Amino acid sequence: MRINEITNWAYGITVVLTVLSGGAFIMSSRSAAQERAAIEERQAFDELADALELGAEMRSDAARSYVMTGEQRHLQAFRGDESEEHRLEKEADAIRSRGAAELEIAALADIERDADALDKLEEDAVALPGGSRTDASGVLFGAEHERLETALAESVNQFRQLVSVRTASAVRDAQARSDQWSLVAKIMLGVTAALFLGVLYFILRRRVAMPLMRMSGIVTRLARQDYAVEVPHDARRDEIGDMHQAIHVFRDNALERDRLDAERRAEQHTKDLILQMMHRLQACLTQPELAEVVSLFAPQIFPKLAGRFFVLNDSRTLLTPVGAWLDPQQPNVSFSSSACWGVRRGRPHLSNHHQDDVPCPHLDGALSTCLCVPLTAQGDAIGLLCFEEGGDTRSAVEGSRLYLELIAENIGLAVANLQLRDRLMNLAVRDALTGLLNRRCLDEALARAERDDSGKPLSCLMMDIDLFKRFNDEFGHDAGDKVMQYVAQIMLDVVKETGNCYRFGGEEFTVLLPGCGGPDAFEVAERLREKIATAPLSHGGRILGMVSVSIGVAEAGSSQAVANLLTRADSALLGAKASGRNRSMLAGSTGRTEQNAHPSA
Ligand code: GH3
Ligand code: MG
Ligand code: MG
Repeated sequence: MRINEITNWAYGITVVLTVLSGGAFIMSSRSAAQERAAIEERQAFDELADALELGAEMRSDAARSYVMTGEQRHLQAFRGDESEEHRLEKEADAIRSRGAAELEIAALADIERDADALDKLEEDAVALPGGSRTDASGVLFGAEHERLETALAESVNQFRQLVSVRTASAVRDAQARSDQWSLVAKIMLGVTAALFLGVLYFILRRRVAMPLMRMSGIVTRLARQDYAVEVPHDARRDEIGDMHQAIHVFRDNALERDRLDAERRAEQHTKDLILQMMHRLQACLTQPELAEVVSLFAPQIFPKLAGRFFVLNDSRTLLTPVGAWLDPQQPNVSFSSSACWGVRRGRPHLSNHHQDDVPCPHLDGALSTCLCVPLTAQGDAIGLLCFEEGGDTRSAVEGSRLYLELIAENIGLAVANLQLRDRLMNLAVRDALTGLLNRRCLDEALARAERDDSGKPLSCLMMDIDLFKRFNDEFGHDAGDKVMQYVAQIMLDVVKETGNCYRFGGEEFTVLLPGCGGPDAFEVAERLREKIATAPLSHGGRILGMVSVSIGVAEAGSSQAVANLLTRADSALLGAKASGRNRSMLAGSTGRTEQNAHPSA
């Protein structure tokens, strides 16, 4: 029951009990008034009886005195006061009409009758002539007079007794009723007081004060944003229950708000990380750098997902692992792009232990769950992100689907940019026909070498294909191109990491060998020349014949400058040509061309 209802009920009952006890008090006081009235009535009746008896006695005394003395004043006293007689008669009538009992009225009539009889006897005695005093005295002191007096006294006593008995009973009854009502009123008051105290204890202490004290602690903790506080469940359907309910709702709302805040913060953190990663991806210059950035940020963005980063080769057939994070279980090996359903379909593909979709063949069979997110740029697949988790990746994936697609798109774009940049770079620095570095690169390398004051030697090989024109003339330009590509490939094979190969122009090539002295460079030149001249070439089913080259070698170091390195190498080349071609020649320190090697047959 609600506190409001309880207080209303208690208030109503208290009012009713108070009214009832008031009624009981009124009844009690009424009974007391009846008691007083009965006592007053008895007093009035007694007084009347006394007055009647006393009046009779006084008149008897006056009559006797008159008879004995003959004085008129006694006769007057005997005749008495008329008005007093009338008053007594009125009172007697009043007593009758006041509701006196039948017996009392009869007793009163007896008194009046006896008094009248006595009066008459005395009147007669007094009326006797003066000479008959003795007779008159005989009457007034005679037996008849005495009998009448005695009868009057008895009637008065009878009347008194009757009145006394009746009024005593009325007084007793009124007293009993008064006591009874007084008791009822007291009980009602007691019940009212008990009810008031009970309601006070039950409502104020048990239903209000104690729950409020409990709640105040809870509310204080909630105000301090301590939402871990336990709010006990209170099923009461009163105002305190409503407040409990409100506190529950408040706490649930606060917890939900906290959860949303935490989610928002986590989401913001994820977005910040993605943004940071994007900025770094944009600044990557090489693929390893890019792989490092992905391997560093992916586990921060998706802490529950281990993974690998694969890049597709130029021919779009092979996926090669370039990065990994959080120890993925899948093997660190390249695999065919057709082995991944994600790459094939160009969409994220989930392979899991539920087997509700075809698993990717490139995955280790022991892997329970793996998500392959292909990297695409302008519709072309260029790589793959593989995420794996021991548990259910589906939930992790579905929660992060948007971010997964976002970072996949960005990584794909970054890879594509890098590849495009590499291609543009190659176009800018490499010769399209031979794949060797171009003349501009050579000039830059020489300019750098000129600025280098480390004192390390630098050797230069100037190489020209002998009688090249005839390949063009006899077999066409394609054949000539083929010869140049052949020579360029052998240059790359021989020089490898020891230096850089450049196309100087036409069928002339240059090799720079940093840290290499003249004699060593000459050896390289000889190896090159011999390897080129190893076997005859063929093109389009026709034998092109032997290809030979002439090489001029020059060295720049402590005594020779880089500035004229090319000129000196070129002079040595001219010397080699002049000496009959298919030979190498090392430029001397004097600037003259010296033949250091003889043509091989
Ligand atoms: P030498 O032994 O004196 O060097 O005789 P050579 O025929 O090699 O010299 P020459 O300078 O007379 O001929 C060079 C020829 O190379 C001329 C040019 O048509 C040809 N050539 C230059 N660039 C290319 C090219 O990119 N492709 C083809 N096929 N031929 C080229
Ligand atoms: Mg030539
Ligand atoms: Mg030439």
